Amino acid sequence: SKPIVAIVGRPNVGKSTLFNALAGERIAIVQDFPGVTRDRIYADVTWLDKQFTMIDTGGIEPESNDVLLSYMRQQAEIAIQTADVIVFLVDVRQGLVDNDFKVADMLRRSTKPIVLVVNKVDNFDKLMPDVYEFYNLGIGDPHPVSASSKLGLGDMLDEVVSHF
Ligand code: GDP
Ligand code: MG
Repeated sequence: SKPIVAIVGRPNVGKSTLFNALAGERIAIVQDFPGVTRDRIYADVTWLDKQFTMIDTGGIEPESNDVLLSYMRQQAEIAIQTADVIVFLVDVRQGLVDNDFKVADMLRRSTKPIVLVVNKVDNFDKLMPDVYEFYNLGIGDPHPVSASSKLGLGDMLDEVVSHF
């Protein structure tokens, strides 16, 4: 079967927007996926000669800060268990926040490849200095995208499929 790519990140970083931008019309809800609850959304993605199944790990996300971290831990664990490649999505507009470091620490414990993707880079010329800040997470090169403007998606997908 196809490799699985899970998108992990704090609420509001743009996971669903990225997911929809990549999935096009090909969204498929898979109900009987081992070890994963039903509300996860799956899509088949084709990039060049490679195919994979993408998961948006964010379902109904918490709004209160005190449960956010345990929720994020759960999301990270699901991704670590089920994915072949983990896309860790962060938000250039919010910048690097404490919870990003905490999620990075969780993901780093897995042996799965992690692709760090910085979303909301709507203007590459202007915002690249802010993208470099995410090197401080210590999980590799940050890949800039704008999910809503569909910028940078090709380079990001090249990086994702290079791990299959
Ligand atoms: P999720 O909670 O991680 O699934 O985030 P959503 O996909 O629901 O997006 C959260 C908010 O960020 C929405 O208002 C989106 O329109 C916005 N958003 C998503 N991607 C981008 C982007 O590339 N640029 C900008 N400026 N806003 C974005
Ligand atoms: Mg979402």
